Formats: sequence, C-alpha cells, structure tokens
Amino acid sequence: MTDRIREFLRNRREDGPCVVVDLDVVRSNYAAFARALPDTRVFYAVKANPAPEVLSLLAQLGSCFDCASVPEIQMALAAGATADRISYGNTIKKERDIERSYHLGVRLFAVDAKEEVEKVARAAPGAKVFCRILCDGAGAEWPLSRKFGCDPSMAADVLEHAHRLGLVAYGVSFHVGSQQKNVDAWDAALSVTSAIFRDCAERGFSLSFVNLGGGFPARYLEDVPAAEAYGAAIFRALSRHFGNTIPETIIEPGRGLVGAAGMIEAEVVLISHKSEDDAVRWVYLDIGKFGGLAETMEEAIRYPIRTARDGDALVPCVLAGPTCDSADVMYEKNPVMLPVSLAIGDKVLIEATGAYTTTYSTVAFNGFSPLRSYVI
Ligand SMILES: *Cc1c(COP(=O)(O)O)cnc(C)c1O
Repeated sequence: MTDRIREFLRNRREDGPCVVVDLDVVRSNYAAFARALPDTRVFYAVKANPAPEVLSLLAQLGSCFDCASVPEIQMALAAGATADRISYGNTIKKERDIERSYHLGVRLFAVDAKEEVEKVARAAPGAKVFCRILCDGAGAEWPLSRKFGCDPSMAADVLEHAHRLGLVAYGVSFHVGSQQKNVDAWDAALSVTSAIFRDCAERGFSLSFVNLGGGFPARYLEDVPAAEAYGAAIFRALSRHFGNTIPETIIEPGRGLVGAAGMIEAEVVLISHKSEDDAVRWVYLDIGKFGGLAETMEEAIRYPIRTARDGDALVPCVLAGPTCDSADVMYEKNPVMLPVSLAIGDKVLIEATGAYTTTYSTVAFNGFSPLRSYVI
C-alpha cells in the first residue's frame, strides 16, 4: 500500500467499502511499459478501470486507448485522447456503433469473422482492420475463452475479405490470457502471426501491424516478472519470427497498468461457524463478488488481504460477501489465512484491486451501492 492511500484512508469518514487508486502508481507503471517496449505504442484497455482521472492521466502521458464500446470511446475522447489514438478492439459490434465510432473519427477496428468485416466495410469505409486470432491462454490465471478470435487458419481469409471490400487489411491481434505470468507466452502466437503475414503477402496484400494484446500481470500473492522481462521476451520473439522486418506493434495492458494502483478498504460484518464443532471460520465482508470482486469467480484471482492484526496467529477462513446470493463466496476451496484475533467491525485492506473492480460492481443488488471509487 502506498503512503498516499494510507493517508487518504486515515482521513476517510464515509461508511461502506471503497477502492482508492493512486495515480502515481499508474504513472510509474506506464513509464515501465514505455521503457520496456520503446518501439511499441501502449493502448490502455479502458475496461480495466475507466475512472476519468486515470484516463486523463494516461492521455497526458501519451497513451492510446483500446475501447470496447461507443461509451468507452466517448470517455477516452473526453479524457483528451484524439480519435487517431483510439482502437475499437471489440470483435462484437453493432453496425450502428461502428458507424457512430466512425463519425467520432475512429479508424482502427478489430474483427474475427467475415461477417464482422462486412459491417465495418459498410459503416467505416476505408478503415484499418486487424484480425484477432485464438490463443490458448496457457499460463494465464484469468485465461480467456474461445469467445474471441478465429482459428489462425481462417485469419488470412478474413483479412483478404477486408482487402477486397476496400478496407486496409492492417494486421493481426491476439491476447495471451490475462494475468499471464509466462513471459514467453507471446512466442507461439507471434510464430503463428508471422505465418499469417506470409500467407497474406502471397495473396497480394501485405500486413504491417501486430496487436500484442494485454496479459501483463499485477502482483497479487506472488511476485510476477517485471515489465522489462516481458519487453525483452517479446522483442526476442519478434526478432525470431519477423527477422529484420519487425512490424508496427501495440500492447493493450489493463491489469498491468492499474491493478497494483488500487486498494479496497472493506469491513468485517460477521465472523461465525456453521456448527458448534465446525472448525472452519466464515468471515463475511461488506464487499464480495457482486460489489466489485467478480474476479474471485472460481477463485481465479487471489487478492492479498491485510488487517491491523497481521502478525497474530492465523487461521483458515472462508471469505464471503454480504449479499443474499449463495454464489457470493469468494474463497472456500482454498480458504484464506486470517488472524485469529480478527473481529467484527475490523477494517480489512484488499490489495491490488485497481483493475476489474469498479466496473464489475452491480448497480444495486440487494440495495448495495456500486463500489465507491476515489482516485488520488
Ligand atoms: C481485456 C483486454 C485487454 C486487457 O487485458 P489485461 O489482461 O488486463 O492486460 C487487452 N486487450 C483486449 C482486446 C481485451 O479484451
């Protein structure tokens, strides 16, 4: 936790859970990516945390933005980004939304099917498109499903279709899975990408762009490699597969830029046992899966939890949220070790919660307010 967050929380008087995001951490993470991949532009994945202060800071620092919807595009524009710094990276778009984004000036679109190419060709004539390919996500703690991307064997067909319809068949994109701890995960995808480049060249049009996606991790319970290690591994892979004709590249970090910048303060509402002789403690917080901690689904992301009683003896606890949905249990298969002295009313701090929390919080399930967010 940063001193600035500690100071902010000391002075906070409002009731209820909140996340506090320290912009200094976002700034230094951005600098680390820029240094690690000096020839690669950063397109911040807006969905990770669209707080206006975060977007404005990144716009000032020179970042570009990966947006998934027209409202995200409008937020990036409002934060000071120009349309040429925005990518419409969602492969699933209504034609009307493509048209709206085109009127806002956006000219870079993701596709993964000929059907989507046709929409872009009609609604955004002459725009650049890149084809997203499937990637298995091995090594990622929050792997992405088969939902996005086409089989690499179909990519050249999709891009050729774009070329024939008057679009700029620009390149290829993939996402190696979120919270990807293997710095070499980009290598296999770049090998496949270079084959698509060759295939397209043989068909008479040339690609020049690779979107390396996100996947850069935040530190939760375990150390993760630094941005520098990712940069070095990606550069090695680019050199191996593209020789000395390395294409234009972008990355789309979300979690890696803002995850570590945020901290949630929550409160213990109840500590109980399910029967007299049951040793397992149940600890219920005023935040859970529906209040912003959706990524605890299947216990995928395990956040570090701090209390004022750290140092006391620890006991295994099931950790759950306050809502009336029985799915609102965060860690049960692998309980959390918490101080035996933890008491009802204690504050707990949930670290590295700057990404994928505010936007995953429900509007009013059980009447609970969406996660309050402070950006400092
Ligand atoms: C979510 C997403 C990202 C960000 O992923 P992280 O793992 O948070 O870095 C980047 N690109 C696309 C297309 C995404 O959908």
